[in-house]
Amino acid sequence: MDRILITSAIPYINGIKHLGNLVGSQLPADLFARYNRARGREVMFLCATDEHGTPAELAAAKAGKPVDEYCAEMWQVQKDLSDGFGLSFDKFGRSSSEQNKALTQYFAGRLFEAGLIEERSETQVYSHADGRFLPDRYIEGTCPNCGYDRARGDQCENCTKQLDPTDLIDPRSAISGSTELEQRETKHLYLLQSRMRDQLRDWINSKTDWPVLTTSIAKKWLDDGDGLQDRGITRDLDWGVPVMRGTEDWPGMEGKVFYVWFDAPIEYIAAAHEWADAQGLSQEDWYRWWRTDQGAEDVRYVQFMGKDNVPFHTLSFPTTIMGTNGVGHETWKLVDYIKSFNYLNYDGGQFSTSQGRGVFMDQALSILPADYWRWWLLRNAPETSDAEFTWQSFQGAVNKDLADVLGNLVSRVTKFCRSKFGEEVPSGGVNGEAEARLINELQTRVETYTRHMEDIEIRKAASELRAIWVAGNEYLQSTAPWAAYKEDPARAAGIIRLSLNLIRLYAVLSAPFIPNASKTMLEALNADDAWPDDVAAALAHLPEGHAFTVPENLFAKITDDQRDAWVTQFAGQRA
Ligand SMILES: [Zn+2]
Repeated sequence: MDRILITSAIPYINGIKHLGNLVGSQLPADLFARYNRARGREVMFLCATDEHGTPAELAAAKAGKPVDEYCAEMWQVQKDLSDGFGLSFDKFGRSSSEQNKALTQYFAGRLFEAGLIEERSETQVYSHADGRFLPDRYIEGTCPNCGYDRARGDQCENCTKQLDPTDLIDPRSAISGSTELEQRETKHLYLLQSRMRDQLRDWINSKTDWPVLTTSIAKKWLDDGDGLQDRGITRDLDWGVPVMRGTEDWPGMEGKVFYVWFDAPIEYIAAAHEWADAQGLSQEDWYRWWRTDQGAEDVRYVQFMGKDNVPFHTLSFPTTIMGTNGVGHETWKLVDYIKSFNYLNYDGGQFSTSQGRGVFMDQALSILPADYWRWWLLRNAPETSDAEFTWQSFQGAVNKDLADVLGNLVSRVTKFCRSKFGEEVPSGGVNGEAEARLINELQTRVETYTRHMEDIEIRKAASELRAIWVAGNEYLQSTAPWAAYKEDPARAAGIIRLSLNLIRLYAVLSAPFIPNASKTMLEALNADDAWPDDVAAALAHLPEGHAFTVPENLFAKITDDQRDAWVTQFAGQRA
């Protein structure tokens, strides 16, 4: 399989994401994208911002800006942060793009043709003062159960009773406070997911290699209670993709938009279209990633997401794709593998956007380089259960793994070489038993590491990578070239020649995790990044006389004072 399509769940436009969001989809997706590129495969790595829906409208209103302007600004903020973390998207698109608008309308038209979309009438609350229908949670009033006067239309926060807006006493708009509300009949479109239930079940059941987290959530939604429910896919809002049937008007749906969860996953496809348009490429160029009747039949498609997104990606979006393919005009690429994640907690509790508890992406980059965060987050990725960020654990991983093990080896070897042999790979000496043992161990470990990366077993890959670094340190410790130099300079030269090659091998293997440090190492060595399938050959890759420079210290240690200050700084109540 030579072509890999990778998508990360698309972050909502509203606000800056925390480290838990980052490790739940974008960062592991980037790891996998970088790994596959390093293996010489053709990769298309896509992400975007999810821009439609009421929360974006309300955030824009709060910021005193038109919603499109607000979204454009926040897209730039998120784009800059993703660049800061080295997320190597081929395209970071926008769900509000013209491309997504057209594709969303296209898919809706096809699904209607397939008999999978139905119009239903329902009663909703309309606010005259706001000039709009109000979703349940934007209606407030007094709880009929406990008398709490700020109960929401879906639930009373005080007594937790589930409510309908019509249950509330003295209901009012949460946006304007107006009490001029009325029940109005309105029509909406429903996606008939229930009709696809058997087809979806067969498909999920065929995915025996998927993480249990993914399939268990999908099966629960398929079969729990009354089973998979049909979903409303339209809303009475201004901000969104206007409801159209392909390029035709949709009678009775004037003034309505598609609901955000319908258009958001379609943006995965639209992002490829945006990618092609941005470079003046043709339709063919992005169809070959997404249309199995137009060249995408050999593409492997892998999605990354947090567990809360699994139902949409295992049931709703596949309904869109399978339902459209069933009409028989064109066939679109269905996902091949879904890697899902549990949650990352923060220091004994949860990350909280509203309370500013935990570390957010902008803050993280303001205190330390991206590689430090990438290493800890990926090494502790919440794969089989929730994980927890603590400053103690973070300090330990940075100081021990990065600074003591990897950074120290690079520094010692290059500095020792410069002082004794100059800034070039020294000649003299031959490999002996210690080298044979190291090569043997590394050959096995590199194979194991590679297998974990292929399987997207991130924690296992990280721990194998660390073991690979440790093996080099132990080699250097036991062969002690600084001591050998006094008795037998040729022997020391041989050890250092192999160790310089070891640095290149580490740079290549580590690049998906810590791309910036890896780049520094390769640049210092004037070396290429060919993957070390054969460790013995890789450790003889840089020839005698090859010039290098001593890199700056790769990693600074985190002091106890810094750690303690950050514990306090990020405890909550962000300014
Ligand atoms: Zn109540």
